[in-house]
Amino acid sequence: MQEAFHIAGTQITPGSRRVLQLALAQLYTQSPLTVPLEVVHGRQPGPVLLICAAIHGDELNGIEIVNQVLARVNPARLKGTLVAVPVVNVFGFIHKSRYLPDRRDLNRCFPGSEKGSLGARVAHFFVDEIVSQCSHIVDLHTGAIHRSNLPQIRAKLDCAITRQMADAFGAPVVLDASIRDGSLRAVAESSGIPVILYEAGEALRFDPLAIKAGTRGVLNVMRSLGMLKPVASQVRVPPMIARSSTWIRAEQDGLLHLKARLGDRVSKGQCLGTISAPLGADTCEVTAPKSGIVIGCLTMPLVNEGDAVCHLASFDEVKQAELSVERFVDELDIRPEVL
Ligand SMILES: [Zn+2]
Repeated sequence: MQEAFHIAGTQITPGSRRVLQLALAQLYTQSPLTVPLEVVHGRQPGPVLLICAAIHGDELNGIEIVNQVLARVNPARLKGTLVAVPVVNVFGFIHKSRYLPDRRDLNRCFPGSEKGSLGARVAHFFVDEIVSQCSHIVDLHTGAIHRSNLPQIRAKLDCAITRQMADAFGAPVVLDASIRDGSLRAVAESSGIPVILYEAGEALRFDPLAIKAGTRGVLNVMRSLGMLKPVASQVRVPPMIARSSTWIRAEQDGLLHLKARLGDRVSKGQCLGTISAPLGADTCEVTAPKSGIVIGCLTMPLVNEGDAVCHLASFDEVKQAELSVERFVDELDIRPEVL
């Protein structure tokens, strides 16, 4: 029989759900600033899955994904516990900013400390109150401002359970990504908590494909962990694991006319767009340094030399990767949602 779940000093009985507001800090006005949290505690025991979004405060797709997942999870049928935090970096969120007020990136402040900088304190609070109570994590992100990402999973695939979660999610591309110091992934991995990071769409926007794929992906992970019943009719597109990825950078300043689109397969030497002066002179081409799939794009046509224009993922079987992307997009667009 499932026992009551305890988080942030609150007890949640089996088969129930609860919305909490955790006191994090205060604004300059001394008004309280809280982190919203919803817990769905199943009747039967199972994993404790944390889904969290907006560690970068301007990344909004994950907030919508959290809400759509919560709407589909019934505590009477859930095995285990879902801990949902739609906005981790509430400071950045209220300013429409990726960062904290002290200009730090919260995802470089983990595990943080009680007496450190603002970023260190927010990170410590999140780890101490929430992460420490969880057994698995899906961390939801988007591209930076003016950059959009094809739905993709980043994870350290040498852990079998992390690999299982990455495969189950159902994004068309998986990057076997090394872990950055100070990230939520780093602190989770060091505590033995498997974590996958979902990247899709662009900051400060709702991207319907990213949200639909993300919602479906989290529910797929929950099924794979045994928290939800499997869907018999579901056909899974196997994700393609990228060998490596490269950012293609602008070789001059100017106006960018990008022809390449997210999900495109490109060949080595192919022209992906041009950069020119305002009257069209001094045009230079942006070319692909290798073949691959476009998994990230600049969405704003003004560039300085060195700006990242396209993110290209390389695959052993690039044609297969293209098929995986096509099938994924078709599935999300034409098939009724199998949630
Ligand atoms: Zn992010």
